[in-house]
Amino acid sequence: MERLLGAHMSVSGGFHKALYEGVKIGCTAVQIFTASPRQWRPTTVSEKDAQTFEKAKQETHIQRVVSHAAYLINLASPDEEVRKKSYEAYHAELVRCAQLGIPYAVLHMGSHPDFEAGMALLIENLRQLLHEMPDGVAIAMETMAGQGTALCYRFEHLAHILEALPDERLVICADSCHLFAAGYDLRTPETYEAVWQEFDRLIGLERLKVWHLNDSRKPLGSRVDRHEHIAEGELGESAFRLIMNDPRFASLPMIIETPDEERFAEDLAKLRGYLQN
Ligand SMILES: [Zn+2]
Ligand SMILES: [Zn+2]
Repeated sequence: MERLLGAHMSVSGGFHKALYEGVKIGCTAVQIFTASPRQWRPTTVSEKDAQTFEKAKQETHIQRVVSHAAYLINLASPDEEVRKKSYEAYHAELVRCAQLGIPYAVLHMGSHPDFEAGMALLIENLRQLLHEMPDGVAIAMETMAGQGTALCYRFEHLAHILEALPDERLVICADSCHLFAAGYDLRTPETYEAVWQEFDRLIGLERLKVWHLNDSRKPLGSRVDRHEHIAEGELGESAFRLIMNDPRFASLPMIIETPDEERFAEDLAKLRGYLQN
């Protein structure tokens, strides 16, 4: 079976460029930013953008595209102004995804110095988004590394959100680097299996819809988010062999966000090389 494996690609020159450049380096899935990741500047999708993007999907056979929301977005911010801007920016992200036929908009879960207060604000905003979001797109909540005051670095945190908002449009994006930094050890068959049993018990494996495959520059439980090239970090080859050959994840889009895009093709080839059939 053809795996949905790819990279976070640049949209400079248009959304469609990400697909044409992606196919050149061996992507069968792609992740994009539909807006500038470090600016609040809103962007819109024209009818022509949507048509060109659809044509690119047909021509490249990259049918599965994922978006990543801007890094500035913090739906749990203690600052009301930032929270409001974040809501509007993520809502606009969901609208652009619907226009471009992108089923998942990956979201960082935000941060707040007071964990409980932050979780409450996050849940309140997600509840509102579920009311106001367009059809055809889901909110992909990313497992975070737990850096600083970041929320949602434990499965319990995501489970808490899903308990408050039992909606199937809330799904999970697992990031291998973030999981490891948060203390989930994916390196040996035993620890790997324990992680997924816990995930299944608390969240449910059927919620997992997107993978970010990144190695980690920092050790297990460091709660520091530093991506490394595949098999060149603390996770190492064993973890990626386990993920790539796990039948539970075989149909999910797997996206690399490794540090140097010049080496994306090399990282993708390594991952494909780990497949046992
Ligand atoms: Zn992310
Ligand atoms: Zn990261």
